[in-house]
Amino acid sequence: MARFDVVVVGAGFAGMYALHSLRERGFSVRVVERAADVGGTWYWNRYPGARCDVPSIYYSYSFSEELQQEWVWSERFAAQPEILAYLNHVADRFDLRRDIAFNTDVLAATYREVTRDWLVEVEDGEPLEATYLITAVGCLSTSSVPAIPGLETFEGPVHHTGQWPHDPIDLAGKRVAVIGTGSSGIQLIPEVAKVAGHLTVFQRTPHFAVPAQNRPLGGDELVEAKSRYSELRESCRKASTGTIVFPSTGKKAREVDEPERRQALDARWTYGAGSIVSTFADTLLDADANEVTAEYVRERIRSIVRDPDVAERLTPRDNPIGGKRICLDTNYYDTYNRSNVELVDVRKDPIAEITINGVRTQSESRAYDVLLFATGFDAMSGPLLRLNIKGRGGQALADAWEAGPRTYLGVAVAGFPNMFTVTGPGSPSVLSNMVTSIEQHVEWIVEMLENLRAQGKRIAEADAAAQDEWVEHVNQVASRSLMMTANSWYLGANIPGKPRVFMPYLGGVGAYRETCERIAAAGYEGFNLDD
Ligand code: FAD
Ligand code: NAP
Repeated sequence: MARFDVVVVGAGFAGMYALHSLRERGFSVRVVERAADVGGTWYWNRYPGARCDVPSIYYSYSFSEELQQEWVWSERFAAQPEILAYLNHVADRFDLRRDIAFNTDVLAATYREVTRDWLVEVEDGEPLEATYLITAVGCLSTSSVPAIPGLETFEGPVHHTGQWPHDPIDLAGKRVAVIGTGSSGIQLIPEVAKVAGHLTVFQRTPHFAVPAQNRPLGGDELVEAKSRYSELRESCRKASTGTIVFPSTGKKAREVDEPERRQALDARWTYGAGSIVSTFADTLLDADANEVTAEYVRERIRSIVRDPDVAERLTPRDNPIGGKRICLDTNYYDTYNRSNVELVDVRKDPIAEITINGVRTQSESRAYDVLLFATGFDAMSGPLLRLNIKGRGGQALADAWEAGPRTYLGVAVAGFPNMFTVTGPGSPSVLSNMVTSIEQHVEWIVEMLENLRAQGKRIAEADAAAQDEWVEHVNQVASRSLMMTANSWYLGANIPGKPRVFMPYLGGVGAYRETCERIAAAGYEGFNLDD
């Protein structure tokens, strides 16, 4: 049986960097990846319109000065093919593929108390043994397709944005249905509308979307950023969202008069990206303050969409703005002004079934050639639970997390020694520029393994009491935010039966990093270390 110091599961941004860092420090590593190549999110999500919502200058690795200087981003928010090309370049540049087993699904990982190591079982292959297990399985890597009656009977192609085929899908002139209007749907819909004969969008909840204001990255802008890259990266590391945003006014929404309010919101709308949510200091803390920004976006929707009835259906009223991840769009609302686009509100007219040639709602049957699901993911805990992890005493992670995920710092779990979760629940992860958070986690974990090695220790396990305290802290911070009141995937609300627990840590990337550093400096407080 092949034996390694570390087995890493996943070869996206996180697994690739973990491999590079560990190898540099002399650990033997094997990465196991279900996909045929590197890229993770950017390997799987190939749908038209897919692009990042954090500027590419920041949504990229900072660990290598040469890498960040040599790569040239063509747009403010790069599209999926460019991000994937970047990750392929990273794999080539650091010769990563030789230690990655592709097309290999991890089926189970079990901690063996006698040998004090992990046994990792894979589909169609020899199991692996490792002292340490690092999960880099991503927060958004388990696509969720709703169980709509009759789905299996549909005779045309059916695709999910998170498992998009590699060959282009021919949608020209076709009758297409898109189900779902989150970030993926909002990017996909304008692109499909351009080519489809007819597009029906099945919307359950309207989301708030603001213009990305994407644009080509002028040579000067990139050159300027590169000339002070280390300073910009340092700002990202300290920022609460792990990226540089249009700064908040620092004022409460009701502290400013109407002209100042409008000017502040207009400035952020024109600047683009998600900064509109932090225009005022209390947007996510106070429902009335939240309404100020929400109403501004609603007014914008009404001004773009010509049919007042369609505009009203697109207007979000159920959730506070920023309660769900704000969507960045390019011509999303304007797409509903096209004559080939129709919007169905499935709250008013629920989908009853999918038939062999279309979708039947309670009131109408419509025929389609292609069905496209943009229905999201079993986020954060989903990919971890699918690893079928068993820790001390044969305890399944699924049992330990029956009432929702519990971790120490989002990086370790009591009862699961020598297992580390990159961007796990309980860390800032999805509330941040994830590349910043991934680098922080990987560096912290690798440094811990180096420390263990230097001290002649082999085992690190989160202490149950320290974990309880961290979970309490995560919950307490979340309880102050309006994000707790939205029906979001952050809370598991999109998956039937999933425990309703706010999974990411809202304390901010910079503050979280300081906490992690303090814990490391104190000899890994909250961990039980053993020889
Ligand atoms: P992933 O990229 O998800 O990689 C995990 C890998 O693990 C996958 O390749 C998967 O196949 C593999 N894996 C999982 N389970 C197993 C198993 N059992 N066996 C073998 N392999 C397994 N974040 C941002 O900060 N900014 C953005 O702009 C942004 N845009 C996004 C756009 C889309 C469409 C989506 C879906 C997410 C986006 N995200 C964004 C979040 C994104 O997931 C992260 O930014 C980042 O790419 C995650 O990297 P990762 O390596 O942690 O996980
Ligand atoms: P999502 O935000 O969970 O949206 C899923 C959509 O599908 C929602 O509109 C949801 O409606 C709908 N839906 C789910 N089940 C349904 C059903 N049975 N019937 C009708 N509608 C249904 O998923 P996502 O859009 O894939 O985005 C997930 C996350 O990935 C984002 O929040 C973001 O973090 C990341 N992402 C980022 C970008 C980017 O801009 N860079 C792009 C894509 C994804 P309800 O709201 O009613 O549940």
